[in-house]
Amino acid sequence: MESVNPYTGEITTHKIKGLWAHFPIRAYQALGNGGFYHAQRVLLCLVSHLGRDSWEVFPSYPTIRALSGVHKNYIRGALDTLIAFEFIKVSRRKSLLGQHNSYKLNPQMYQEQYFNDLARSHLAKPLYCLDCHKPLLHGDVGNLASGMRTHFGCGGTAITMDSKLKASARTKAIKKASADDVLVPTSSTDSGQS
Ligand SMILES: [Zn+2]
Repeated sequence: MESVNPYTGEITTHKIKGLWAHFPIRAYQALGNGGFYHAQRVLLCLVSHLGRDSWEVFPSYPTIRALSGVHKNYIRGALDTLIAFEFIKVSRRKSLLGQHNSYKLNPQMYQEQYFNDLARSHLAKPLYCLDCHKPLLHGDVGNLASGMRTHFGCGGTAITMDSKLKASARTKAIKKASADDVLVPTSSTDSGQS
């Protein structure tokens, strides 16, 4: 299955076969950072049901419970978290055996640059845009041939959060030094007058 990055045109292929599927690392991290451990385990259970041809899976509550260890009273809440993070969509389906839930996994859970604000808020942002002043994920930027990083959202220049913090510490030190420069003659004049 393929998805196309609308910013770069890059094609991402999720190879899913009968007995293996890509592990959604960033989704796992966002849920873990947020303390949503039930949702984390239920998501992995859903991923383990992925087949070759579709993003839709149909495990029953007893199956989810057996594989994830999440008690049936907490499965609904875990699903609500996954829906809020937009990692899945849930719908009701009718079959010969009656009604069952269908879980559609969102391929964008594999790509942090598509995460919604809630999911993003639980990821560390190692980069910073000098132009729009937003903290950024690695997935938000592209590397230019010059070695510079560019923010896909605004075309601005991105730097590491580390160098941003160092630069603002330097600016603060310079401001403080120049403020001291102004104060010194004033205070010496005052003391001269008294
Ligand atoms: Zn920007």
